[in-house]
Parts: sequence; structure tokens; C-alpha cells
Amino acid sequence: MRLPLPLVVAAMMVPSALHSAPAETAKAEANWITLGTIGGPVANAHRSQPANALLTDQGAILVDAGDGTVEQLAKAGIPLARVRAVVLSHLHWDHTAGLQAVLGLRYQADTPGKLRIYGPPGTAALVAGLIVSMKPAAEAGYGDPNAAHVDPGDMVEVTELAEGSKVALTPAVTMVAAQNTHYGFPAGGELDRKFKSFFYRFQLPSRSIVYTGNTGPSPAVEQLAHGADSPGERDDRRSDYGCSHSTQRARHA
Ligand SMILES: [Zn+2]
Repeated sequence: MRLPLPLVVAAMMVPSALHSAPAETAKAEANWITLGTIGGPVANAHRSQPANALLTDQGAILVDAGDGTVEQLAKAGIPLARVRAVVLSHLHWDHTAGLQAVLGLRYQADTPGKLRIYGPPGTAALVAGLIVSMKPAAEAGYGDPNAAHVDPGDMVEVTELAEGSKVALTPAVTMVAAQNTHYGFPAGGELDRKFKSFFYRFQLPSRSIVYTGNTGPSPAVEQLAHGADSPGERDDRRSDYGCSHSTQRARHA
């Protein structure tokens, strides 16, 4: 399987230790769909901001949620109600600006179940702010004074991750978080502890997917990407994408 053009969000297939999974397990295999592949804070008429959908038999998992995520989901034929979890690589707006729409439209559509949100330190504060922003419309509802109102905060469950955190996203899909080099804070310092940019390895029944997020050169990423069967998907010719600006060295490995 080859992934479609992940320039901004280099997702690479790597061999899995579970390569000989039985056929009944393979039926539960997940698929990865890139929803947005532009990088940086400048809007683009032809490409949406970073977002991906990992489709499992337990629902869809969004991996980053840049502006335009909901529209891209619709284009991909994935109902918003099918989204069960969101994984954020880091908290720059081009990776998170679509989350407000995901939360608000789920709320407005009375989507059942809590949305699980995973991300680096600061994710809880980000989501708490979004929940506050939802309250006026949530209280107004559809103008029925007798309508029962649900607290938007009751519709989410946030988990902040640390280096090496392992999460069972579904019974068949696990995820491991590791730090990339998008941020250049001195290791172990206060800023490094406070602000982290993660990449993720998703372990599926028969293979794994490494999602680098935005990163500069990173031995950790290279180690996980070793043996990738689609290294040609990467685009090493450019150095101006990601959340970088002119003084930042961020690029995609
Ligand atoms: Zn960034």
C-alpha cells in the first residue's frame, strides 16, 4: 500500500513484527487517509492544512486537525460522527485550528459518546479554551427555553502524553508517542518539559505507520522510519514547509 502524497505530514509505512497476522485479524486492518497536506500558516487554495484520518473498525481517528478538517472529512466520505478520537502532534494552529469545528459540529449534531483527544503538554489547556468558546452557542441551543443543555466539556476526554506514552486507540491499534525536533528547546529544560512536538508510531494488525508531524533531522524519527517501503513519498527538495517561518529550521524528514 502506498500513501497519497504526504508532503507535509510524512507518514511512512514500516514493517511490522506482526506481519504474519491471521486472516481474521487482518480484516480489522486500518487505513490511513491524508486529509490535509499543506504546511505553515498560509492558506492554500488547493491543499488543506495538516490532518489525517486513520480508519479503523472502531471508527476514525484524526491525526492532527488543521483548518478545513471537517470539510476534508466530508470530501473523503467520512461522517464526522465516525470520528472517535483526535491525536495532535503539537499545538501550532495549522495543526489544531480545525478542532473547534470538530467539537462544535459534533455538539450541534448531538453526536453521542465522548471524543478522546490526545496530545502533548498543553492539550488540556487548548481544549479547555475551546470548550469555553462553545458555551454561548451551547446555552442558546436552538432557542427552546425548555431544552436540556449538555455541558460541552462532558463531550471530551483529554489525555496529555509524555515521551514514550503508549495508548490503545482501539483493541487493534496502539500508538506510541515520541519527541521529534520541531522545537529546539534545550533537552530537559523547563521549555522542553512544557512544550513538546511528538511523532507517532501506530501499530496496526499487520503493519505500522510512522507519522512524523513537523520535524527537523531526528535520529528518533529515522530509527522508526528505517525500512520504510515508501521513502519516495518523502519530499526532501523543499525546506520551507511545516510550521516554519523564515528563522526556523523546521522541515520534514
Ligand atoms: Zn508546527
